[in-house]
Amino acid sequence: MKITRISAYQVDLPLKEGRYSWSEGKSVDVFDSTVVAIETDSGITGVGEVCPLGPVYLPAYAEGVRTGLKELAPQLIGADPTALNVLNRKMDQLLKGHPYVKSGIDIACWDILGQASGQPVCELLGGRYEDDFILYRAISQRPPNEMAENVKSYRDEGYRRFQLKVGGVPEEDIERIRACRNVLEPTDKLIADANTGWTMHEAARVVNAVRDIDVYIEQPCPTYEECLNIRRRTPLPFVLDEVIDSVAMILRGATDGAMDNVNIKISKFGGLTKAKQARDLCVSLGIGMTLEDSWGGDIVTASIAHLAHGTPPELLFTSTDFNSYVTTSIADGAPQRVNGRMAASTQPGLGVRPKWDVLGDPVLSFQ
Ligand code: MG
Repeated sequence: MKITRISAYQVDLPLKEGRYSWSEGKSVDVFDSTVVAIETDSGITGVGEVCPLGPVYLPAYAEGVRTGLKELAPQLIGADPTALNVLNRKMDQLLKGHPYVKSGIDIACWDILGQASGQPVCELLGGRYEDDFILYRAISQRPPNEMAENVKSYRDEGYRRFQLKVGGVPEEDIERIRACRNVLEPTDKLIADANTGWTMHEAARVVNAVRDIDVYIEQPCPTYEECLNIRRRTPLPFVLDEVIDSVAMILRGATDGAMDNVNIKISKFGGLTKAKQARDLCVSLGIGMTLEDSWGGDIVTASIAHLAHGTPPELLFTSTDFNSYVTTSIADGAPQRVNGRMAASTQPGLGVRPKWDVLGDPVLSFQ
């Protein structure tokens, strides 16, 4: 099989809550997502999606996805989309770094492989452990009482795991953690995600103040070394996210005992091929995982679902249903949350049918 055309579509994804806010006053109102469509000489078309969390979260930005595709896409015409490792090596030889640019292409090629083989992507990625898997709800940064109210109302919708956006003023963050834990049951899980927003002395104050609370601490500081320092000063379970962007970093963290869990975002690793490699390594090392992406709509949500299904439940800490956070649906057939859980499609490939009328005309097309 050969790639005959690669097109990209730009789509705005406004948030149902109006705004998503996290550490250091950062926020996004409307997400800028890129859908990649890959056509083949066999008549199969696969789709992928990449949606950075604005330009100041990871070293990635929305226009950068499209600019990178202009560089990469013309050179992939004629390549075999079903030979995923060969294709990924070729992408790495053509463009150094920029994993998020490659993610949409890789996802679209998994969609093609699934359709060509008549199998859902999750089966090709290693199988399905259970009928569905558990989700978390991200609680946008607001005053502590409002965040506790939001936790309560999302709990009523069926969620049992909550990730608080902290990384603000330490006194307020301590209050946020206490207020939100107070509205939860003992079996619910709470994560305080600072998204790199604390200095070491701020992080040390917060982890000391909440040491009696059942809460996970996620990515307190910007660098790996700062996080490791805080990790060694707290008995609380510890998650690394932003600094874990490669297999090498997982191995380094495992060697240092730097974390209990990691957050594997598909576009942070460069697509499903590399996210699967990271996921399977974590399973072998006994490291728990949040499997998700930086953001996205229906196609990212479907990709996450296929990746999450092949993870032993005791190591799948959480996952995300991004399509329930935004007002715009870009594909039919995407998984929908039921009682705080989600399942991947049983259809071949990703199991999504893009809404071409919503996507409009392509902003890029190479053949
Ligand atoms: Mg995080």
